[in-house]
Amino acid sequence: MATDNHENSELNPFLQMTKRLEKASSLISVDAGVYKILAEPFQELAVSIPVRMDDGSLRVFTGYRVQHSVARGPAKGGIRYSPEVNLDEVRALSAWMTWKCAVVNVPFGGGKGGIICDPRRMSQGELERLTRRYTSSLLDIIGPERDVPAPDMNTNSQTMAWFMDTYSIYTRATCTAAVTGKPIGLGGSLGRNEATGLGVAIIARESLKYKSLPSEGCTVVVQGSGNVGGLAAKFMHDMKHKVIAISDMYGGIHNPDGLDMPKVIDWLQENGKLQGFPGTTDIDNNQLLALECDVLIPAATENQITSVNAADIKAKIIVEGANGPTSDEADMILEANGVFVAPDILANAGGVTVSYFEWVQNRMGYFWEEKDVLDRMERILVDSFKDVMASSERHETSARIGAYCLAVERVAYSHEMRGMYA
Ligand code: NAD
Repeated sequence: MATDNHENSELNPFLQMTKRLEKASSLISVDAGVYKILAEPFQELAVSIPVRMDDGSLRVFTGYRVQHSVARGPAKGGIRYSPEVNLDEVRALSAWMTWKCAVVNVPFGGGKGGIICDPRRMSQGELERLTRRYTSSLLDIIGPERDVPAPDMNTNSQTMAWFMDTYSIYTRATCTAAVTGKPIGLGGSLGRNEATGLGVAIIARESLKYKSLPSEGCTVVVQGSGNVGGLAAKFMHDMKHKVIAISDMYGGIHNPDGLDMPKVIDWLQENGKLQGFPGTTDIDNNQLLALECDVLIPAATENQITSVNAADIKAKIIVEGANGPTSDEADMILEANGVFVAPDILANAGGVTVSYFEWVQNRMGYFWEEKDVLDRMERILVDSFKDVMASSERHETSARIGAYCLAVERVAYSHEMRGMYA
């Protein structure tokens, strides 16, 4: 399969995913034929999306939907709107969803979508027309039993409402289970908005326990202040940890005495960026990653910790809120330096776990209380953390490769039990 960005394989997320898959597969002896299936996406679609812009002109956007695996259930994964979206990124994100759903043992495969666009330069009307036309282009491959999208970077519950409405118009029946991350009141689940950030905080707590580090008052640095980073920082603050720095795409703020996170979040909402928050020093994202702290939470985007800056990391624990923030080359350096990494496919799995609950509630037509949703999520994450660490100890490898071993074993089992129609 052709991949983009061959020049620097460290920055190609799909090649990075493949390296981890290779390492795990060599430890658990996956059948060579099954390995070939797991190494390639099951299905991918690239679409041209014409959109009438507000000024009357017609623009054509490029969108993708990749289904890496449907072996364990319908494909599941978000849709990202960004100028940086590319096919290899979507392929990697899609495969990571397969492994993530398998790690937390929810009955989904992996999928992901993306549109190359700059949503900050588009009106709500343009975004709605883009979303609806994209949905109509995917109709042959999506649906509650086939592929269930969700929000990701720069998409939200409104995007999902448009997606669900367009799908329902074509299928002539209101189908809330077609997507997750919908608004509450339109089939969304209580707790879904907080799920990923809270899950990251829960995995941070379990990681501290596992490494026998004191929990109360530990120092935390967060890269990214969106749905994942902003909420993870808030929950870490609520758990009495000291969040000393946080960033967004414009840069970060630092105060070694700790940030008042509820006030920081209000400030961000009012001002659109973090810098300038009173009583803090401005820092850039590179300085932020290198700060002395107990827990570092990269929660922005891929390729943030690489062979270039891994040796500068002073955190004791990294909890990956983002997908793919750390390269395989960086993992080697971090491991040699004794940094514990709670990998993305475990650490940010709270989101897909509650997405699964949303899909279940939509299909039951009966909704759970928020406490019920979040308690169930916590149980799944705590059990998954134990499963991952048991796998890592059994195979004498890192938590990341331990998580891949667990996931690959589960997906390979589904292939073997279903048999090969080949
Ligand atoms: P978001 O759009 O809500 O927030 C992204 C944040 O990262 C923003 O604060 C943005 O300013 C910042 N950012 C973007 N580019 C940056 C850069 N180059 N340097 C520093 N900061 C930058 O997105 P999100 O939903 O919070 O997703 C963040 C990451 O978490 C992504 O990797 C996503 O795939 C992953 N993730 C999200 C969910 C979810 O439920 N939203 C679930 C699992 C994983």
